[in-house]
Amino acid sequence: MGGFAAPFFLPIVQLYINNMKPVLVLDSSFRPIKQISWQKAMTMYFQEKIEIIREYEDTWINSPRKKFKLPAVIRLINYVFKLPWGVKLTRTNLFVRDRGRCQYCDKRLNKSRFTIDHVVPKSKGGKTDWKNLVISCAKCNTKKGDSLLHETNLKLGKTPIQPKNNFFMIIPDETPKDWIDFLVYQ
Ligand SMILES: [Zn+2]
Repeated sequence: MGGFAAPFFLPIVQLYINNMKPVLVLDSSFRPIKQISWQKAMTMYFQEKIEIIREYEDTWINSPRKKFKLPAVIRLINYVFKLPWGVKLTRTNLFVRDRGRCQYCDKRLNKSRFTIDHVVPKSKGGKTDWKNLVISCAKCNTKKGDSLLHETNLKLGKTPIQPKNNFFMIIPDETPKDWIDFLVYQ
């Protein structure tokens, strides 16, 4: 995954990878919930609360009797995660939803320097909500100005949506590759 492709964050807690080999926890329907340490994952494994879905191919744990591959992704056997509330509309969350790219020209944007565009301009009744906001580069934003989309030659890469999934923010360069299949973007 090149560049900023961090598809997920939890609405409440932002999680960052803080040790070498974190374990991604999925609920029983394979939705990502959080990350935990491998020690905790192994404890849960011996308590038969989880099943191991993926292992890190290159990392082993030695116990007196057995050698284990370190789990990379685990699934809680009896737990369906329910979002307590929706994903909050914030600048950062918009950036994550739009994968850090200008929604008009696909240019990669800097996390701390990007603009937010009302697709239907505020002056024309456009709302400030997930479905009417996209991130854009300054150039496209200026080009668009106070016009409606069809009055310009700009096109949206995709229709902005309200995220339903719980997704949490991960420092992309450090996202373990074994996790990527499970970090589904909605
Ligand atoms: Zn642009």
